[in-house]
Amino acid sequence: MRHYKSILHFRTLGLAFVLALPIIADAAQYEDFYFPREESTTTDGYPTPLSGKPITKTPIITKLKGTSNKKYPKYYIPGKEPLADNEMRVTILGSGSPTPVRRAQGTSSYLVELGNGDNFIFDIGPGTTGNLYSMGIHPALLDKVFIAHLHLDHVGDIFSLFDAMGWARNTPLQVWGPSGTTPDLGTAEFTKNVRKAAEWHVQSKRNLLPTGGTSIVTQEIDISKFSVENPRQLAYDKNGVKIYAFPVVHTIDGSMGYRLEWKGLSFAYTADSEPSTFEAEQSKGVDVFIHEVFPSPEEYAAQTKMPLQHAQNALGEHTIPEELGLVFDIARPGIGIGSHYTLGDALIDNFFKNVRTTYDGPVLLAHDLSVINVTPEQIVIRQAKTSLLAEVPDAPKLEGVDMNPGERSDSKRPDWLTETKIQR
Ligand SMILES: [Zn+2]
Ligand SMILES: [Zn+2]
Repeated sequence: MRHYKSILHFRTLGLAFVLALPIIADAAQYEDFYFPREESTTTDGYPTPLSGKPITKTPIITKLKGTSNKKYPKYYIPGKEPLADNEMRVTILGSGSPTPVRRAQGTSSYLVELGNGDNFIFDIGPGTTGNLYSMGIHPALLDKVFIAHLHLDHVGDIFSLFDAMGWARNTPLQVWGPSGTTPDLGTAEFTKNVRKAAEWHVQSKRNLLPTGGTSIVTQEIDISKFSVENPRQLAYDKNGVKIYAFPVVHTIDGSMGYRLEWKGLSFAYTADSEPSTFEAEQSKGVDVFIHEVFPSPEEYAAQTKMPLQHAQNALGEHTIPEELGLVFDIARPGIGIGSHYTLGDALIDNFFKNVRTTYDGPVLLAHDLSVINVTPEQIVIRQAKTSLLAEVPDAPKLEGVDMNPGERSDSKRPDWLTETKIQR
């Protein structure tokens, strides 16, 4: 249509003016959505996506008044800021929703780094491993994943996680996640099938590279043990790090949240859930609380181009901004984070307007590569600047790990085909 119009103009208006027209129109329409975007704000004064600032009006939160606060550079640059031994860094790797996965928003994945050198990945949704590997951590040190529930927007990148550089570790990927009400609904069955689906992949590489990184060790949290008397279970307890699992209200049984505690710092992640007093109580008083949030059914239907009835059905299992505020009002976290939200300038203002009807504390609307540093004194939120061509950092020394490739697979391609190879 645009070309057709150009030809008409060409006949009537003159060459130079007309040839410029369609290009200017395109740029005006789309320029804001290429990276890097100019620093800008929404009508209500919130930073816009891709403008280099986290979407909040409270990027610095003082926990302890009268203490000398650590100063941070404007952006978080991976590899340039070692953590203090009492510091935690939380990075949003995937802030979006599966409808659709976007270049600027992967879905559901969060990295927690601690000053003791431990790293934890919470969910590994589609489109997030690029962000993860851009964070300057050697893949050998990214082997612990806590799955909140088995919706594919929370686990879809697990293949990339164990493939991309699983060989660099040659030890199993460790996965924690919920059991199901029956074994086929549990995390162990899921990871077993993931590994099974990768059989050709693993056999093809067995004699070339270490392939131990493509095995998965799964530890299920038995959801039948949750009750009013037993609201949470200790899923992980090592190096002073405790991670508790607790159930949340989301579709069928087997959706969980996690709460991490270390050196007086804390983090809670409830993944997808309908608002409940229970999850709010389990997340009470944490420094960083990440909870899902969706726009209104009308906004969601317009955004996804789905019928309103379907949008209403889907959002019945989720949380809208006013409800998020109610959960935060009970939990009172250092920073309450709404995530799983498809970002758009107008929707940002609507989110804050609505969340403010029920909550007055600090709120961040998650964006990929928002980074939250937490110390005993303060919480500081910035955007990371990571290289689009990030390289692998130096490999750590892995004590006692056999890095030799294994035996060749018995599956062999036919000789006649091999004989056609052009010799080097
Ligand atoms: Zn879900
Ligand atoms: Zn989800």
